[in-house]
Amino acid sequence: MFNRAVALMDLPPGLEEKIRVCNATYTVRFGVRLRGQIHTFTGYRSVHSEHMEPVKGGIRYAMGVNQDEVEALAALMTYKCALVETPFGGSKGGLRIDPREYDEHELERITRRFAYELIKRDLINPSQNVPAPDMGTGEREMAWIVDQYARMNTTDINARACVTGKPLNSGGIAGRVEATGRGVQYALREFFRDPRDVEKAGLSGSLDGKRVIVQGLGNVGYHAAKFLQEEDGAVIVGIIERDGALYDESGLDVNAVHDWLVKHGGVTGYPDAGHTAEGAVVLEQECDILIPAALEGVINLQNADRIKAPLIIEAANGPITAGADDVLRKKGTIIIPDMYANAGGVTVSYFEWVKNLSHIRFGRMQRRQEETRHQLLIDELERLSSDRGLGWQLSPGFKEKYLRGADELELVRSGLDDTMRIAYQAMREVWHGRDDVDDLRTAAYLVAIERVAASYRAKGL
Ligand code: GLU
Repeated sequence: MFNRAVALMDLPPGLEEKIRVCNATYTVRFGVRLRGQIHTFTGYRSVHSEHMEPVKGGIRYAMGVNQDEVEALAALMTYKCALVETPFGGSKGGLRIDPREYDEHELERITRRFAYELIKRDLINPSQNVPAPDMGTGEREMAWIVDQYARMNTTDINARACVTGKPLNSGGIAGRVEATGRGVQYALREFFRDPRDVEKAGLSGSLDGKRVIVQGLGNVGYHAAKFLQEEDGAVIVGIIERDGALYDESGLDVNAVHDWLVKHGGVTGYPDAGHTAEGAVVLEQECDILIPAALEGVINLQNADRIKAPLIIEAANGPITAGADDVLRKKGTIIIPDMYANAGGVTVSYFEWVKNLSHIRFGRMQRRQEETRHQLLIDELERLSSDRGLGWQLSPGFKEKYLRGADELELVRSGLDDTMRIAYQAMREVWHGRDDVDDLRTAAYLVAIERVAASYRAKGL
């Protein structure tokens, strides 16, 4: 995918290779005494590009973690950050572990030990390398990591900025948990704002009533599906999980399915929809929008030609293999690429990092001042109305909404929405503007690689 994009660029010889390769990968093997014996774990932290520092990217806990995967995901982080203009290079980490095999206390010991190995080598550091959650990790793990860093760097006033995706009480930011799903929603909204794009996918109108299939009801898939259902009128007709899929043409209740999943560990037995054990088949069902939000490589050469969705938005990282991407492109399927589609997470991570470095909550200084100024205007309108006997009535709810100054959550959403719109517009300009670009992924790569190249050029490389 990278090669296809650079073939369309005019990069100086050597720079293309410099950008493509992963700068460094650190492998750590460590033992933790658990249940009376020593368990050895293998973890990685890979740094793809340091054209900007710190480098950024999540840490995943999964059995499939290996060096190639971590490096590919680190590269994706470089391009993702460039595309959404978060001032970071790209990195990624992984620990080969099935987190469901361990209890909370064991996971804490493993995480702290992994963090220790990375921290002592500056592979976790507020100004050099800032991890975040990814598959198999979340707020809890980030809280352990920040605490471990703080213990090892007792005088670092910026310790909290060493990792993002933390719980609010450990220096997190409002809206980070749902940020990636929210970003998927904002991405789709921006796509549907331009009728030319909607038409390219053979669709029409707005998100309202669009039939959606989601693969993976984890943090990203759940929030994306929930917001699209609750706020945009999309109909979630299919949900695919590890143990099969649920399908209901009239729409599934995302919250109810999620509650069931959390309680029972799967979707099997969910009473209000048809269940099939062959989850992968539902990927191939007719729908308007397909949202792969689980593993990489789920759409591949085996099933690509049977995928019927005219629009796919990659909420997961790398859900479509390069081969399948070719097949789908030739079929005319529109793909909103991962690099853009799931960048909401790192965008809000950026806000969290800035918050940690500034040591103040967003909105704390200006919120009441904003409210006071709005109150002034309302008072004046009401005075004018009564002095002149105009009988003006503000519409119900307006006063309350208008008077409220923005809190952190509102500011985060506004910053995320703006970021997703602007990044999409940059891709769209290339997509529509260049005859040799006929897909959004190539457009995204062109924008991102050009920015990384510009940054290297500015450094004199
Ligand atoms: N793991 C997420 C991703 O793949 C978030 C990374 C971050 O916030 O640094 O984009």
